Amino acid sequence: MVLEAPRQPLREVAWPIPEPGSEQVLLRVEACGVCRTDLHVADGELADPILPLVLGHEIVGTVAVTGEGAARFQPGARVGVPWLGWTCGGCRYCRAGRENLCSHARFTGYHLQGGYAEYTLAHEQFCFPLPDGLSDIHAAPLLCAGFIGYRALVAAGDAVRLGLYGFGAAAHLVAQVARHEGRRVFAFTRPGDDAGQAFARDLGAWWAGPSDGPPPEELDAAIIFAPVGALVPAALRAVARGGVVVCAGIHMSDIPAMPYDLLWGERVLRSVANLTRRDGEAFLQLAPAAGVRTEVQPYPLLRANEALADLRSGNVRGAAVLVPGTA
Ligand SMILES: [Zn+2]
Ligand SMILES: [Zn+2]
Repeated sequence: MVLEAPRQPLREVAWPIPEPGSEQVLLRVEACGVCRTDLHVADGELADPILPLVLGHEIVGTVAVTGEGAARFQPGARVGVPWLGWTCGGCRYCRAGRENLCSHARFTGYHLQGGYAEYTLAHEQFCFPLPDGLSDIHAAPLLCAGFIGYRALVAAGDAVRLGLYGFGAAAHLVAQVARHEGRRVFAFTRPGDDAGQAFARDLGAWWAGPSDGPPPEELDAAIIFAPVGALVPAALRAVARGGVVVCAGIHMSDIPAMPYDLLWGERVLRSVANLTRRDGEAFLQLAPAAGVRTEVQPYPLLRANEALADLRSGNVRGAAVLVPGTA
């Protein structure tokens, strides 16, 4: 399913199966999660994607063919492909263990063809071996919602009272890890989204309520997953002195002007960008130990436009996942 131009629906197109280059693997796609970043790319909110483009960066695939010099996986191995598709290894960020900020990074489903397809290519050093005991559709959302959610949770520090703004794919995983770590989760949803609030409580949230009101007590940190700039002053207002507000999305509407008082008191406002391979490895170890359960809404690959529309309108419980070869 191909994006030919921003703001156009994806189109079903037949392309030849690609051949893996050096240190690449050809994967048969078993499942691919649908991330909000895909919507930002499709909507033209992120600059300069390759076009035509296959979206999708939460890919669970089976190695079909290995390219020259690719020896890490055997054909038949099941691997995960995340957003971080390739880094240079030589820039000052890569050398400092901050490859998420690599000056030359290429991202899956943005600079590299992604997983809304039956086959895709990946650089083997950026693939993850996946633990057994997780089905393909349940593993897919871990690869971005899980990894970047986890990075945002680490950035929130040791906060006990943790606010999550937007209770979608990432928050539903982070909430479970946070609870496992003994934190208390305060889940904020769109006003009136009773189903979303009930879902958050099902997953162990201490409190769930609308994002336009205050939480019942001060928070120590908050993570904003919803792409809504107005949530930044709201979250700063909700956190105590010394609290941290983490913006976890790649795109957000403009942040409204706000009084300096909201930041005063050593409150910290920061973003997290992308992921490192170390984040992914850490999360894949932690998720089974924490008993993380992925809630998924599967769609046949050919209904990718419907999955994107449902994500846009907030009609996905947990994570939407595309599955090729189903109707
Ligand atoms: Zn680099
Ligand atoms: Zn993503």
